[in-house]
Amino acid sequence: MSARLSPLIESFDGLAVISRYDQPTDTWIFICLHDDSLGRMTGGTRMQRYPEPADGLLDGMRLARGMTHKWAALGMEFGGAKAVMALSHTPVGEERRGLLRRYGRLLESLGGIFATGEDMGTTPEDFQIIAEETRYVHGFDPETQEKLDPGPFTARGVFAGMKAAAAETFSDGLAGKRVLVQGTGHVGSHLVKLLHAQGAHLLVSDIDNASAERAAAGVGGSVVSLQSVYETECDIYSPCAVGATLNADTIPLLRCRLIAGSANNQLAKPEDAGRLHERGIAYAPDYIINAGGALAFGLLTQGETDLGAIMKRMSDVGTTVGEVLREAGQRDESPVVSADRRVQRTLDRARGVTADS
Ligand code: NAD
Repeated sequence: MSARLSPLIESFDGLAVISRYDQPTDTWIFICLHDDSLGRMTGGTRMQRYPEPADGLLDGMRLARGMTHKWAALGMEFGGAKAVMALSHTPVGEERRGLLRRYGRLLESLGGIFATGEDMGTTPEDFQIIAEETRYVHGFDPETQEKLDPGPFTARGVFAGMKAAAAETFSDGLAGKRVLVQGTGHVGSHLVKLLHAQGAHLLVSDIDNASAERAAAGVGGSVVSLQSVYETECDIYSPCAVGATLNADTIPLLRCRLIAGSANNQLAKPEDAGRLHERGIAYAPDYIINAGGALAFGLLTQGETDLGAIMKRMSDVGTTVGEVLREAGQRDESPVVSADRRVQRTLDRARGVTADS
């Protein structure tokens, strides 16, 4: 076990970390349980290669904290958690199936303290396999029992959030705005179509150039090289790939007025929120604007069966983003500060904390 793991666990402000080494695939599994004040701890499972298992654990702990914030911001009765499978190589075929089945049995043995669905690196097909072993997977079509992809719901939520944020930032809407979407995967590929239908001009970038070309071709957009994303002039930058793209190096380069995208943990460090605020760049906090998939799966878990009605509820994301940006504007503070205050109020209420306690 890497010497870096124990100090990380000691620093975790959450409830517990469950760790398991899957010998046949040389994979570390970390289930990071952050907070159960609002309900059953629920969050996605990410599968990724990291430089070291400890980097996977760190990612899981940050993402778990983000889930606590996400559920609280949505006002939904779920707690925050996230699982990470830190791979040494990407398993395929029977090897992948074996890993997924053993993971499913691990989840089942936990008796429901944690429920999960897709995150980066895992697919609806993977979850169909995991669900053969456990009841604690969410996001199935109530009619067909097929596993649903959260991407289109998340994209719809980002779209609603971007519209609301644009209304707070510009005097007009999204029509005619230049939007740079970084990452054209499960979320980004749907988002560009929604933006195109709204009259936005699309710029796209992806580490997989063929994916960027495909997305651009579908909407009459243009491809931006990986190196020039941050310096490219646009109205809205929409990070829909990896985290930490907003940092001390990139923020001074940005030539946009608004940031609104799906990626988790967009800020490399908490102080980057202040850097954006100082530069006068509006920022829709990631854990709120990317909550559509979580909201959709949460509604399904609570018994909603009409997928059309669930899609309509993605407008809730827009409502919350709008409220947060308005409050931040009134107080002349970063929207992250307003969003965190909103979350803290919800968690305090659930924990019975009062102003004098
Ligand atoms: P995905 O894996 O389907 O797509 C990510 C895309 O980003 C891929 O096309 C990949 O090639 C590209 N990419 C990777 N590294 C890149 C880089 N350095 N520069 C440019 N492109 C790069 O993932 P997704 O499901 O679309 O999720 C995108 C982001 O949104 C992730 O950060 C994810 O955690 C977050 N998110 C997703 C959902 C969801 O419902 N899928 C929900 C909430 C948050």
